[in-house]
Amino acid sequence: MKKVYFKTFGCRTNQFDTQVMMSKLKDFDLTMNEDEADVIMVNSCTVTNGADSSVRAYINGRGRKNPNAKVILAGCGSHSKGEKLFEDKKVFGVIGHSEKEKINEILKFNDKPFYQIGDLKHIDSTIVEEFVGKSRAFIKIQEGCDFRCSYCIIPSVRGDARSHKEEDILLQIQKLASNGFGEFILTGTNVGSYGKGQNSSMAKLLKRMSMIRGVRRIRIGSLEPIQIDDEFKELLGEPWMAKHLHIALQHTSDKMLKLMNRRNEFATDIKLLEEIASKGYGIGTDYIVGHPGEDESAWSEAIERVKLLPLTHVHAFSYSKRDNTASATMKPEIKGNIAKERYRELTQLIKEKNLSFRKEHIMNLEVLIEKGDSGLYSGYDQYFNKIEVTSDEDLTSNWINLVKVDVEHDKNVARY
Ligand code: SF4
Repeated sequence: MKKVYFKTFGCRTNQFDTQVMMSKLKDFDLTMNEDEADVIMVNSCTVTNGADSSVRAYINGRGRKNPNAKVILAGCGSHSKGEKLFEDKKVFGVIGHSEKEKINEILKFNDKPFYQIGDLKHIDSTIVEEFVGKSRAFIKIQEGCDFRCSYCIIPSVRGDARSHKEEDILLQIQKLASNGFGEFILTGTNVGSYGKGQNSSMAKLLKRMSMIRGVRRIRIGSLEPIQIDDEFKELLGEPWMAKHLHIALQHTSDKMLKLMNRRNEFATDIKLLEEIASKGYGIGTDYIVGHPGEDESAWSEAIERVKLLPLTHVHAFSYSKRDNTASATMKPEIKGNIAKERYRELTQLIKEKNLSFRKEHIMNLEVLIEKGDSGLYSGYDQYFNKIEVTSDEDLTSNWINLVKVDVEHDKNVARY
C-alpha cells in the first residue's frame, strides 16, 4: 500500500482535521517518516503572513528532499494560497475543508493534478476526540465563525459557524464516559456559537451532557462575552462545571475593540467577569497587544482596566499581520519592541493576579492527574491551575481530592 505522511501546521482544530483525514484513509498506510512517503499531506495554517511563509518553505523544501512524493495541500491555507501554489505547480493537489472526509477516494483515484476546493458550508460527520491520558477528552463540537474581527482571516477560510449534531456529540461522549473518561473539553473555532442550525445552545448541550453517567467535569474551550446568556449563567453553580471559564476579550480599550471590530465593550465585560468571579470562578482570556492604533494612551487605559478585572489566566498574543484582513492596512503600526514590552507587562500582571487567586484557593482542590512518574505527578484543579503532586502511589489519570496545597510562584504543590 502507498504511504501517506501528514505534516500539520497551526492550531488544535487543524490537528483534529488531520485526525479526520487519518481515520478515513482505508487504502493507504500512514508513515511517520516523510522521506519514505508516496504522498505528503500538508494540513496548512494561514492565520498570519508568517504562517503562510512556514507552509511555503516546507513545501519547497520537501520538493527538493523527496521529489517523488506527491504533495497535497489541505487546511486553511488551501482556501487562501491553494490556487496560487497549484498554478505554480508547487503542489500536486489541493483539497478544501469540505473534502477531508473523501480523502481516501481523492488519493486513490486522482493520478492527475487536482484542485478540489469544495465549499465552506459543510460540517464533517466525524466527531473528533483527542485524549490526554486515559480520562480527559477534547471534543470538537462546531466549525467556523460568524464574527468578523478585523485582524482575523478565519471566517474566510473556515466559513460561518455551524454545529455538529447534538445527538452525535452526546453519543460520542456516552461512549467515552463508559470507557472511563470523566473530563470533557468542548472545542471548535467559535465554541460559544454552538447550537446554531441545530435548534440548540451551549447551555442545552451542557445540560444534556451532564446527565450522562460518568461525566464528571466539563470545560469549554472559549466563549465570547456576548455568548454568555442567562440560560448559561444558570449553570454556573452546577458541580460538573469546571470552575474556570475562558472568555475572549481580546482588548480592554474601547477604541481598540472598535478598531478590532469586536462585539464586546469594557463596561459590560467588567460586569460580566465580576458576576462570574463572584460565583467562585477563575477566568482566563485571550488578549492581543500591539494591534495597529494601540497608541500610548490606548495602552495605558487598557492596562489600567486589566488591573480591575478578576482575571486569573491570559493567552496573550503580539499582533501579527495577516494580508487581506482589515487590520493589515491600519495605521499606525506598533513597533515590535513596544508590543513585546506590553506583552511582558500584561503577562506579568496576570501572573500576579493568578498567584493571589491561588493563595485564596488552597483548600478542597479536585485534581485530575494527567501525567507523571517516579513519584511526581501533575494535573489541573477545577480552576485550571497546575498542581504538582508527590505520591508513592501511581496516580496517572486518577481524580484526587486535595484538602490543602502549598502555593509556589508558578504552581501549587501537594503531597498525596
Ligand atoms: S471570534 Fe473573531 S478572532 Fe475568533 S475566529 Fe471569529 S473572527 Fe476570528
